[in-house]
Amino acid sequence: MSSSEQLEEFMNGLIRRNPGEPEFHQAVHEVAQHILPFIQANPKYEKAQILQRLTEPDRIVSFRVCWEDDEGSVRTQRGYRVQHSNAIGPYKGGIRFHDNVTQSILKFLAFEQTFKNSLTGLPMGGGKGGSDFNPKGKSDREIMRFCQSFMTELCRHIGPFTDVPAGDIGVGGREISYMFGQYKRIRNEFTGVLTGKGLAFGGSEIRVEATGYGVVYFMEDMLAQKGEKLEGKVCAVSGSGNVAQYAVEKLLALGAKVITMSDSSGAIHDPDGITTEKLAFIKHLKEVKRGRISEYCDEYPNARYLDGKRPWGVPCDLAFPCATQNEISGEDATLLVQNGCKGVSEGANMPSTKEAIDTFQKARIMFAPSKAANAGGVAVSGLEMTQNSMRLSWSREELNQRLRAIMGDIHRKCVQYGKSDDGHVDYLKGANIAGFVKVADAMLAYGVI
Ligand code: NDP
Repeated sequence: MSSSEQLEEFMNGLIRRNPGEPEFHQAVHEVAQHILPFIQANPKYEKAQILQRLTEPDRIVSFRVCWEDDEGSVRTQRGYRVQHSNAIGPYKGGIRFHDNVTQSILKFLAFEQTFKNSLTGLPMGGGKGGSDFNPKGKSDREIMRFCQSFMTELCRHIGPFTDVPAGDIGVGGREISYMFGQYKRIRNEFTGVLTGKGLAFGGSEIRVEATGYGVVYFMEDMLAQKGEKLEGKVCAVSGSGNVAQYAVEKLLALGAKVITMSDSSGAIHDPDGITTEKLAFIKHLKEVKRGRISEYCDEYPNARYLDGKRPWGVPCDLAFPCATQNEISGEDATLLVQNGCKGVSEGANMPSTKEAIDTFQKARIMFAPSKAANAGGVAVSGLEMTQNSMRLSWSREELNQRLRAIMGDIHRKCVQYGKSDDGHVDYLKGANIAGFVKVADAMLAYGVI
């Protein structure tokens, strides 16, 4: 059977077993296209049915979350935790609060997380959780009541040696604090059960910055591989949340020019470049005022607001999608390439559609998939777990050095497994295979479980 027939047969079976889960199908396809031929060349994995087992989560917990809004009305939401694989360590992955959260989205995220965590070299399995709760426009008290109710159920499924959740879209320091407080209260234990905690209660320096910084470090390494630098490069960034803010901060520190950011309502294009001062305005706007990115143009009138649009039509050298899944369509990718974009480093999880990835790969531009490029966040979460276990805190400098080293190491692994004879590096293939090998070898060692 040819490898494309094999892939088709495998995907048909997966789609039959998981109907109505397009994001999960997409994520598995992205991995299986490289892993199936690799397995064929390494039959020990085939006999043990490793890929078949890895596409079935260890378990999925789904539960009701009831809370009372400020008017006294009772609201009902659905909560989930997908525990995908604990082959190489406790389940680890974020919690997402967004009204579009479905089981399919959390399954794709948990699946990806297993490979990503493996790439970091740290002992962490993969998981993901969340709820269809929409935090936008909710008061602080409503957020608190929801988080407490969510944790009241979740706490029986997690633990420092079992499953250690973190933040994601809609879950930042505030939400982690409410959930950690509730866990501590119910279980009467102070343990590193969540990461992304406040510095006063077991959090780690650099965690807030880690994903965004890591995305830029990965791009720095891809450019260095070609003898180039970030300095002077014109960059388009999407999103204006945690990942986007710190990607922009690091890009500015390394001398790049950032001309776009966005939120779910639209994008801003600032031809003069977003400076450190303008970034501080955005951080305050998003973290304190919880306002919309369009307000940037009231403050800086030279910038234009692209209502309802994404930034990919703006010419740039490098693109950093840092908002959400499938935010770069095939047409967006074509536009980026036509306008001279030479590299993409994915800050968000699976922000490029299959068509977009095909376009980048056909154009042979540098393409860093999220499981490699945004692994810095979970890597520092892993270091937060280490610090919690050792009951000590490392300095900012020490953690930044460790983060830099881990990103460099992930880049090296991707080159090892993704470089072809003509010197071109397929980072997607490299990340998929490098992430797979460690998990697969652990599964082989355990026998059939
Ligand atoms: P935040 O909630 O802090 O920010 C998300 C940003 O994306 C906001 O600007 C938001 O706009 C925008 N956004 C959300 N949904 C959509 C949508 N459907 N269409 C367009 N824009 C949207 O989340 P993070 O920055 O933490 O996460 C961003 C991405 O990075 C996610 O894919 C996440 O999984 C991934 N990631 C995050 C990590 C972390 O450490 N935080 C680690 C690894 C990956 P608005 O304000 O309008 O909602």
